[in-house]
Amino acid sequence: MATAVETMTKFMNALTKYSNDTTTSGVAILDEAVKETTRFNGLQDAINSFVNDVSDTEAIPDLNQRLWETCGIVLGKKDDFTTDTGAVSGYNAGGLTVKDAAGIVPETGTLSELAMPKAGSTTTHKYINADGKECTFYIEWPASFTQAIDRKWQTYSTYNPDLWTTVELTDQVFSETKDGEKIYTAEQLKKSIETITKGMEYWWADESAKLISDSYGIDFDGKTLRVRFLVNQENVQADTGATDKKENDTTPSNVIEMTFALPLYAKIDPDDPNGNTRVDGGTYMNYLDRTVAHEMVHAVMYSNGTAKIYENNGVVTMPEFFTEGIAELVMGLDDYDGGNMERIEKLAADKSALADAMTLSGGTGTSIRYTSGYMFLRYLCQQSMEANDILSLIDAKGEAYSPIDTALLKAGDYMSPSASVNTDTAAINTQDVNSLLTNTESINPMLFYASNI
Ligand SMILES: [Zn+2]
Repeated sequence: MATAVETMTKFMNALTKYSNDTTTSGVAILDEAVKETTRFNGLQDAINSFVNDVSDTEAIPDLNQRLWETCGIVLGKKDDFTTDTGAVSGYNAGGLTVKDAAGIVPETGTLSELAMPKAGSTTTHKYINADGKECTFYIEWPASFTQAIDRKWQTYSTYNPDLWTTVELTDQVFSETKDGEKIYTAEQLKKSIETITKGMEYWWADESAKLISDSYGIDFDGKTLRVRFLVNQENVQADTGATDKKENDTTPSNVIEMTFALPLYAKIDPDDPNGNTRVDGGTYMNYLDRTVAHEMVHAVMYSNGTAKIYENNGVVTMPEFFTEGIAELVMGLDDYDGGNMERIEKLAADKSALADAMTLSGGTGTSIRYTSGYMFLRYLCQQSMEANDILSLIDAKGEAYSPIDTALLKAGDYMSPSASVNTDTAAINTQDVNSLLTNTESINPMLFYASNI
């Protein structure tokens, strides 16, 4: 068994075996990856256990305690931006550093002082990957930073790139809401293009690629990200797709497009390097750099053939909870930023809602499935941790062992019968703990989280 990052790295490895496969269904691929990576007998077995454990109010009546023990999830507090986001590489999932809303995609410097890249240019980006290797990728910028693409309120069901037009952002062109209300001036939209472009050029794309490498062991090496901006579209925040593949071809792609919906980001703090949209009158309140990290997961998975996603096609589609959950897991959802805590609480309190949110159907944009998928993957990671992983983490974090003594009292319930722990003895020294737990198959995450109380 393994730490959370090790589990997800193994999981991605299992998916990578199907990179050039275009006929095996996404569900079958996930089924294989679950068997290879976790103690569960397949995808459905893991889903059933997850739904039962997370909603089992008889076993653990307290909701926060239940989330903590089953998934390792520690919900943040309202208005508190200093807590760990629950990202797979962060503290709550077993990492050594707290990654909070501003820190999950790190930046240094002042955004407004940076120069814009040249319109129509392609810029080179580098990062050091999880294995210490230098990776290079490219960003292809739009031909003009004063123009945007008008999708004319297309939705996924009316998606038709042939109807898209490019419009110059002049005083006559505003971005509209669905109801036709014109709410943003061209000046605002141009400013938001500048803020997003600088964020992407200097930090967000590179740091997201590195974060994904550190979290999942997959890279964007040699690939191109094509960045585009949209007006008259606010039903998606940003989206990402392969541009050099025919329909039904899920083999690795070299050029992946990432689009940003300007109406949602027309009000963005021009000085905050995180892309803060939590400003007066803002439409969507969060840090845009986290959304970029989410979208970059899709981009990297399209680029290496691990995204088996089709809209309106059931043949190879992975379930929405997975394609979106895996994108959320890289930047975390437990904290206050972005309004996900309520959805986690709702799902953990309602078994049928949780089961519904774990439907195997594909798609994108169903927010409850982003949340359920994130919780499910945290559950798989948590259930794959072993006593030794937990103890070595506590060691690495340099925390006192005293909570372990308390946790051991509880851990007795979860250990295999062959392991004998004297649960009457509260004072057990470190060596004893190690030797007693060496042979256990799985153990209550309480042991680990006891160190965080
Ligand atoms: Zn997504």
